[in-house]
Amino acid sequence: MASTETIEQVKERIEEVDPAEAQEELRGDGVALIDTREPYEHLEAHIEGSELVRPADVTDRIEEVVPDHSQRVLLYCASGNRSARAADELRELGYENAASVRGGIKAWEAEGLPVVMAEGMTPEQRNRYSRHTLLPEVGVEGQLKMLNAKVLLVGAGGLGAPSALYLAAAGIGTLGLVDDDEVDESNLQRQVIHNTERIGQPKTESARKTIEALNPDVDVIEHRTRLDASNITDIIKDYDVIVDGADNFPTRYLLNDASVRLRKPVVSASILAFDGQISTFLPYEGPCYRCLYPTPPPAELAPSCGAAGVLGVMAGVMGIGEPLIGRLLLYDSLGTHFTELKVRRDPECPICGPNAQEIPESEMGKFPDYELFCAA
Ligand SMILES: [Zn+2]
Repeated sequence: MASTETIEQVKERIEEVDPAEAQEELRGDGVALIDTREPYEHLEAHIEGSELVRPADVTDRIEEVVPDHSQRVLLYCASGNRSARAADELRELGYENAASVRGGIKAWEAEGLPVVMAEGMTPEQRNRYSRHTLLPEVGVEGQLKMLNAKVLLVGAGGLGAPSALYLAAAGIGTLGLVDDDEVDESNLQRQVIHNTERIGQPKTESARKTIEALNPDVDVIEHRTRLDASNITDIIKDYDVIVDGADNFPTRYLLNDASVRLRKPVVSASILAFDGQISTFLPYEGPCYRCLYPTPPPAELAPSCGAAGVLGVMAGVMGIGEPLIGRLLLYDSLGTHFTELKVRRDPECPICGPNAQEIPESEMGKFPDYELFCAA
């Protein structure tokens, strides 16, 4: 088949049937219906009973799907061009009875004929998340879980900003943002969720505007405050997962202790100059932050605004993959070097260890003075 041929020339050689005729034929027996599109298109909406054979695979796979060269074969695609070429390929392979559905599934749907759709998602969502649902590891089910998930980001800064963008783009249905800061010009070099026009605005508000523009499916909840012992229980209790991008140790220890009490998983990332680390703390299943770091590091090693924003991206991406429970991933950006360390629960941990004090209801949400603890 000459590749310079127009689709009109191809169509002159093959048989085309209108959608209504095709539906009539499909009511009978012995008709093979082939969807000649890509898997994500098939998943979004397809005609019931159709077998997917990608356009690139038609020649190789057709004999496996339709061994009988005399069988009636109807092919369809989105608008009838790919299926016309496929019907022509079948003709060349000796299939005597292949036809293409004129106008494809678009014409089929326009005539009000039934299709099988990815359930639970709107047509816009099926399209937006098609590259996710195409992945067998995610699928429609996984995407629906994400749309129903509630993730809290502690900090809308260097680590929180890229995480928020990726989580929003991925379709996490509810994103909570905790930050009491305002956008400063010096943030913009790495805090990619903000922009020049937003200088002086609260970071949560700036982040919300960006997220809403990126993905209207995401419900953004602004917590324009600083996490402290008096508010942390109320803020974190309704979320499924917490992404810890806190830029200071008191908040990090506070968040750890509260999340262990409420059994909330925390994806925790931190950066220091060109090094970063990330881990997932799943209370009582793996170690907590205190199992790893019983005491804060000396003040001179405490991270200030980091130079590398990449770890935030990792927090967004890795939170979705195999959780790093009991594993600490270290990243050296100058050497582009990853190291994975096994970390274990500390039997002496005052928070999650076997000898940790059971916390009575009346003490929930009451925490020691972390400023003092970290300054010690
Ligand atoms: Zn612990």
